[in-house]
Amino acid sequence: MTKINKNYLNLQGSYLFSTIAKKVNTFSAENPDAKIIRLGIGDVTQALTPTIISSLHQAVDEMKDKSTFKGYAPDLGYDFLRKAIADNDYKLRGCKIEADEIFVSDGAKCDSGNIQEIFSVDNKIAVCDPVYPVYVDSNVMAGRSGTFVEGTGKYSNIIYMPCTKENGFAPQLPTDEVPDIIYLCFPNNPTGATITKSELQKWVDYANEHESVIIYDAAYEAYIRDEDVPHSIYECDNATTCAIELRSFSKNAGFTGVRLGFTVIPKELVRDGQSLHTLWARRHSTKYNGAPYIVQKAGEAVYSEEGKKEIKGLVDYYMRNASYILNGLREAGYEVSGGKNAPYIWLKTPDNMTSWDFFDYLLNTANVVGTPGSGFGPNGEGYFRLTAFGNYEATVEAVDRIKNL
Ligand code: PLP
Repeated sequence: MTKINKNYLNLQGSYLFSTIAKKVNTFSAENPDAKIIRLGIGDVTQALTPTIISSLHQAVDEMKDKSTFKGYAPDLGYDFLRKAIADNDYKLRGCKIEADEIFVSDGAKCDSGNIQEIFSVDNKIAVCDPVYPVYVDSNVMAGRSGTFVEGTGKYSNIIYMPCTKENGFAPQLPTDEVPDIIYLCFPNNPTGATITKSELQKWVDYANEHESVIIYDAAYEAYIRDEDVPHSIYECDNATTCAIELRSFSKNAGFTGVRLGFTVIPKELVRDGQSLHTLWARRHSTKYNGAPYIVQKAGEAVYSEEGKKEIKGLVDYYMRNASYILNGLREAGYEVSGGKNAPYIWLKTPDNMTSWDFFDYLLNTANVVGTPGSGFGPNGEGYFRLTAFGNYEATVEAVDRIKNL
């Protein structure tokens, strides 16, 4: 008889955004005239820029001619894109990352869920609390989490690093128990918090000292404004011997529907006597057949001079929303953070409401959808996430509605 992977039964509840979607659908069915504004899910709203579109068109045209047609892409990515990434995202920032240390993929969600496969199931992982749910759920599926402890909202075998108002929503180095794998995400989803280079250096030193691996999710790197906030973990000394970095084209260039991302594993990153670069190359080439040529050409265009200007315009557009939300809610008396180097605004719910109570309240009274902080972990309870990815006009209206409550 076929047996299932029982680890899946250990997953908690349904995916956060499906629960939100169900609630919003019920509300709009009951209130057909309500003009709902969605600042919940972190999807972008603005169109792809002209340079990206023309690059996509050109690549499509190449497909119609036998001499320029492309079939399977190289497993690890086309050289033109890997080189553009290495030159622009890393060498320009003084990071020693070579093109062949970059693995092109169809996005950071898959990479952040799949990367744990190259590590032993015995490894202990540490995550921030609150956290992007994929890191936890993918480790639950792999059987690395232990059991779920009712009442705590935590798995018994995962180290949760609290990110609270008291520590500026940045985790402290674990002292009680040393994790083997540490997930960090800066600028952070959901809190919008960032980390300075000197603070991140402490994590790198800790990981090197304890021979842990940091999985550094920099999906929101394009939103960094402050000089002392690093864009890549490889800006820190000796990070190439302890860190894997994940990046995405979703939130800088608006590729959430186009799909493109990459993972960086330096060749000198060795654990258990093995090169993690070699293991991931083996995994990638066995289970993945490459991001489409057309999409990788669009990715290359992101690094052209015109592409860079246009992408900066997109990010500036969303950051104008972020400032409007941040300032508007602050004026209305809310306790808010994030939104300065990140497209997420993290707010304390008023009057000690739970995150889901505030979700319902906002939906019912202002017809605005956000994301309950408790969906990201126990320390997210009593908090709420709004995103800056809406249309400017809709964002302004949403904030004004909240202010008028
Ligand atoms: N990592 C973080 C922290 C995210 O918030 C997201 C998307 O919301 C992703 C990764 C996924 O990005 P992608 O669209 O490249 O799969």
